[in-house]
Amino acid sequence: MDPVLRRGWSTRRRGSELLDRKRILVAGGSIGGLTTALLLRDLGYDVEVFERSSAALEERGTGIVVLPITERYFTERGGEDNRVSLELSDWTYVDQTGAVIAAEADHFRFSGWSTIYQALLAEFDPARYHLRSEMVGFDQYPDGVTLRLGDGRRIDGDLLICADGLASTARTLLLPEVQPKYAGYVAWRAITPEADLSPETQALLRDAMVYQVLERSHILAYAIPDPDGRTEPGQRIINSVWYRNYPQGGPFESLMIGVDGRRRTGTMPPGTIRAEFLDEMWLAADDLLAPQLREIVAACREPLIQAIFDLETPQMVFGRVCLLGDAAFALRPHVAAGQAKACADAWSLRSALVEVDHDVDGALALWEGRQLTLGRTASARTQAMGHRSQVTGTMTPGDPTWKFGLWEPGN
Ligand SMILES: Cc1cc2nc3c(=O)[nH]c(=O)nc-3n(C[C@H](O)[C@H](O)[C@H](O)COP(=O)(O)OP(=O)(O)OC[C@H]3O[C@@H](n4cnc5c(N)ncnc54)[C@H](O)[C@@H]3O)c2cc1C
Repeated sequence: MDPVLRRGWSTRRRGSELLDRKRILVAGGSIGGLTTALLLRDLGYDVEVFERSSAALEERGTGIVVLPITERYFTERGGEDNRVSLELSDWTYVDQTGAVIAAEADHFRFSGWSTIYQALLAEFDPARYHLRSEMVGFDQYPDGVTLRLGDGRRIDGDLLICADGLASTARTLLLPEVQPKYAGYVAWRAITPEADLSPETQALLRDAMVYQVLERSHILAYAIPDPDGRTEPGQRIINSVWYRNYPQGGPFESLMIGVDGRRRTGTMPPGTIRAEFLDEMWLAADDLLAPQLREIVAACREPLIQAIFDLETPQMVFGRVCLLGDAAFALRPHVAAGQAKACADAWSLRSALVEVDHDVDGALALWEGRQLTLGRTASARTQAMGHRSQVTGTMTPGDPTWKFGLWEPGN
């Protein structure tokens, strides 16, 4: 199994005089913002990250499928040993009795959101990662931008990259008409220590990602490293994701009101879901799920809910301000490309800057064309997959087109 390495920040040599003068501001210090900051810093730019949160980000408690570009920052610099994920070698479908009804050898990698975030954060100079720094606006000039923060600070830069997520402040200011659209279903996400599961369930999940296709719904489960990065079977965490329909205009709105009476839009964190919804979900699990998957769902007493949204922006570049990652496109999770898309935006911006010899405006123009195409293509594919699973009920076990991948199935 691959070690999940602990890393430390190290000082890097600066690039040319030209790059030294260019100052890049990144608003949003999650996976998209951090990957961008690291890549541009490594090119020699003077990069600072401004993150709204008052403390280092904490995971929403779930796993992610790691496509190669998500951990490319690590593999390019340290090879295979520098990975931050574990590999599973089978893609398996079970029926309601728990019997395997389709299986294929297929290698994909998995990790915890936090494992990736912490590994990226450890590479970045803490003095340039500013917490409690909420972007509230910006002012643009012909070749520069001033970032405005909530506490009154004003920061000048040559480029402002807004990696501020689905509810992006920057996008709301620039394109108020572009709003996330609820897809009609949510993901119930649960995690549980592998060691707490029965030997039968552990055996099924040892090397496999396991799916069950249900009536207008599906669930999948897979192993991820534990919080200490351990990847040996028995030490890992098992993560499940169950897609369930909650129509807008009543059921969904009610689901998203927590035990504290507060209405949330995107995520119901662990401990906030009301008992009536938890009980209904566990009863449905008893009725519908394969015994192994039922066991995983039942073992987690504090699951979380992630509402599924579509978001597509028609424009990513606005002078010296740009939108990156979820701020520009939110992809449904079915191709496992949310993180990958944010990282692809970062790598593509790096390439564009190099291609045009660091002419910022030229690079942004090149980058926007490429990333709009990628975003639209990936978004259309994930929406079509969600439609098959949750609306028409035409997802089938073993379907060879149901594959992870950012650019196309399997890639
Ligand atoms: C704390 C956290 C936990 C997550 N956990 C998971 C998970 O377990 N599984 C999963 O699949 N996905 C998870 N995600 C989502 C996942 O990171 C994204 O879907 C994807 O990686 C794209 O990342 P992003 O950087 O574009 O956006 P996000 O990851 O959404 O990051 C946006 C960042 O911008 C910050 N921000 C927002 N507004 C402002 C502002 N005005 N000024 C400054 N900063 C601002 C936010 O605090 C956040 O850190 C999580 C995101 C966060 C923030």
